[in-house]
Amino acid sequence: MNSPHQIPSYLTQREVGPWAVYLEQVDRVTPHLGKLARWVETLKRPKRILVVDVPIERDDGSIAHFEGYRVQHNTSRGPGKGGVRFHQDVTLSEVMALSAWMTVKNAAVNVPYGGAKGGIRVDPRTLSQGELQRMTRRYTSEINIIIGPNKDIPAPDVNTNEQTMAWMMDTYSMNQGSTASGVVTGKPISLGGSLGRHDATGRGVFVVGCEAAHKRGLSIPGARIAVQGFGNVGGITARLFAEAGARIVAVQDHVTTVVCDSGLDVVALQAHVTEHGSVAGFPGADEVSDRARFWAIDCDILVPAALEQQITAANAGQIRASIILEGANGPTTTEADDILSERGVLVVPDVIANAGGVTVSYFEWVQDFSSFFWTEDEINSRLTRIMREAFAAVWQISVDKQVSLRTAAFIIGCTRVLEAREMRGLYP
Ligand code: GLU
Repeated sequence: MNSPHQIPSYLTQREVGPWAVYLEQVDRVTPHLGKLARWVETLKRPKRILVVDVPIERDDGSIAHFEGYRVQHNTSRGPGKGGVRFHQDVTLSEVMALSAWMTVKNAAVNVPYGGAKGGIRVDPRTLSQGELQRMTRRYTSEINIIIGPNKDIPAPDVNTNEQTMAWMMDTYSMNQGSTASGVVTGKPISLGGSLGRHDATGRGVFVVGCEAAHKRGLSIPGARIAVQGFGNVGGITARLFAEAGARIVAVQDHVTTVVCDSGLDVVALQAHVTEHGSVAGFPGADEVSDRARFWAIDCDILVPAALEQQITAANAGQIRASIILEGANGPTTTEADDILSERGVLVVPDVIANAGGVTVSYFEWVQDFSSFFWTEDEINSRLTRIMREAFAAVWQISVDKQVSLRTAAFIIGCTRVLEAREMRGLYP
């Protein structure tokens, strides 16, 4: 993507990708920030970037090196907060953008955090469990100097899970000399994890999806839904929509797309993926090998729940859904946003749609600090209330200011961040 922005010296023009999309989103919010616009440059510069070498001994005795990152985009409202991603395509630009989206997201749903993100450029499928554990522990040791329960709190993201968080928590705790459960969220329940955290991102997507459908007069029972990505976010979202009576007509994962006009059996599909590692070969569904055809599938709600920059100028014109729920972070480019808005497609942006995960991460962190644990009902009802209120606030701003839901969410989020920035003042 060509960007009119000045590229930071540590990114090459070729690498700028998702960071450029984020900067364009900031440009769109700037005219709505009033006097706070004087601080907007804060949002365009990550506070702190750590790039680390992560060497491990492979099972065959050879030494492998991986590139790891932790970016703290902003800490004006509280400690850094955001996931850690293991993926072969992780770049600094991507982690910068993901950390910035965490800043806006955490402020948009008003959890008391800044924004951060981490990642390792690795295909975790090529590692054994032992290698994965050694890599996770070495990465945690390398970023140990900037994380902590009051400094920056990692969590799961693409290809990381409860086990990854357990290793990170243990490594940090061993380095500190005492058990620090609040250093990561998304932990196993037995280590101070929260009930409801595993499903929280998908549950949040579902809750705001129901609110958006209501605004559009679309009834969920019988609604046709297509989901890209069948991991923690896409899988749970699909299950909750199916339980509410919607038809999951298509699921695309990293291998293929499965379609079924009468609706896929999501629970059976989940079991198939656990066994085979992909939706490919799922009995009772047709497979579409041409990945691009996914975007033109006849559906009411489309849920991109995989990676960034999936909905682009090349496919936005083909999308038949009336609502897009961004389960993924950054799935839609700015050009695609414009095409969709011209076509009257309602895009519920990532910073609201997928904020359920970090919201329950916040609940987990609070529970860890107080060593007092809530019931799943309490967690789900608090999550639902926060998601509904956040959606309603964003909707109202979008109506009042005649802007997209994305710009409205950025207005709320960036205003909160920059108010904190201004109140704190510059040091020294
Ligand atoms: N990785 C998730 C996200 O992108 C959750 C982050 C967290 O819980 O800190 O929002």
